[in-house]
Amino acid sequence: MNSGFADTNCDVLILGGGMSGLALAHYIADYNDHCEKLSKTTWVVEPRQTYERDKTWCYWQQQTTPFDAAVTHRWYRWQISYNGQTHICECSELPYVRVDSQRYYALAQARLDKSKTVNLLTGTKATKVDVKQTKVSVSCDDLQYEADLVYDTRPKDVAPNTLLQHFVGWEITTDRDTFDPETVTLMDFQSTKGGDIHFFYVLPFDKRRALIETTHFSKTLLPDKVYEEELRTYLTEQLGICEWQIQHEERGIIPMPKNTASHTQRSHQNLIPFGLHGGTAKPSTGYCYPHAHSQAQQHASQLFAPQAQTASAARGLLARWLDTVFISFLEHQSEQAAGTFLQLFRRVPAPALVRFLSDNAKPTDYIQVILAMPKLSFIREAFRCVRNT
Ligand SMILES: Cc1cc2nc3c(=O)[nH]c(=O)nc-3n(C[C@H](O)[C@H](O)[C@H](O)COP(=O)(O)OP(=O)(O)OC[C@H]3O[C@@H](n4cnc5c(N)ncnc54)[C@H](O)[C@@H]3O)c2cc1C
Repeated sequence: MNSGFADTNCDVLILGGGMSGLALAHYIADYNDHCEKLSKTTWVVEPRQTYERDKTWCYWQQQTTPFDAAVTHRWYRWQISYNGQTHICECSELPYVRVDSQRYYALAQARLDKSKTVNLLTGTKATKVDVKQTKVSVSCDDLQYEADLVYDTRPKDVAPNTLLQHFVGWEITTDRDTFDPETVTLMDFQSTKGGDIHFFYVLPFDKRRALIETTHFSKTLLPDKVYEEELRTYLTEQLGICEWQIQHEERGIIPMPKNTASHTQRSHQNLIPFGLHGGTAKPSTGYCYPHAHSQAQQHASQLFAPQAQTASAARGLLARWLDTVFISFLEHQSEQAAGTFLQLFRRVPAPALVRFLSDNAKPTDYIQVILAMPKLSFIREAFRCVRNT
């Protein structure tokens, strides 16, 4: 925890010092250093006392970020498999990278320790948020903070009937060379049963070490022992591994909502939802890391704009609409999902698809993606979405 910040009034308060909150704090600290006159005193409140490695973040790297020193691996090949067919994509300009969360947290802490204007308050939990006329008041344990602007990255309850991406992953080591360290398996589809889309993800760190995840897109979570049994069966029967040591386990539940919170349509101008539960993640993929960074940078720059600006939407209208239709497709035509993913990776050139998945698509990328989708199914889902809005 930084010391020397006794005041409980600040310009910006960030609730949650996780991936997205720390990214935002880092960008604000950088702007503060460059524009001292417009400097925004910023507090980040985070219940954790200390940070440990808790997640593996992967994404397609299109631009540099201040956290690139936390990238441990880069892959230029990825594959997707379904029904005995495998498609391999190669892309030399847009690597798929892995960020180590422990290194990420250490980089953020080191940056904020150096800042005189941005302060990370660890061991502090926000318990109540009150929106007033021009200020937001936040109770944190026994202190009351007041800020002009509050970014809320705290986890939220997920609305009932929301599609979920739920997964359990084991980082394992083996005694024999087993993995191809050059190629990530993004999706190795299994059969879809009762609306539950199921696939495995394999992130190979070297020939003997990899993270294997069993992932489902469905509305219902499974008992722990089911995920574990799926992992065991995949390791033995599909990867042919007899013995392994589990080095690390991670699990997650990522909501895939059809209607996401929009930064521009929030209930109060001064309370901005941000992060995984604040509309930052791309709902149709669950990827959040690259979106959090580009949006954090945008928000920070808007704070320093000469005239007050409203926060821009997390993604454009077309991207949001396609996400909604795609999620509706996953919900209602789940048995077609695996084949459609394979088609998408086959038919759309890797750079265009990566830009699309990263919310960075050019008009021609959208056209290629739309052309690769099963037309009738998507038209049907588009009508369904229109009827339900
Ligand atoms: C296991 C796992 C793997 C993932 N892998 C990827 C990936 O490969 N690529 C990708 O793009 N995305 C991935 N995601 C999705 C997403 O990137 C992560 O969940 C990411 O951590 C989201 O960042 P966040 O800041 O929104 O949430 P978090 O990082 O969870 O941060 C929220 C913070 O809020 C704090 N908090 C909680 N309650 C309070 C309170 N009352 N007051 C103040 N603070 C509070 C928490 O302690 C936490 O630090 C993954 C998610 C999980 C769970």
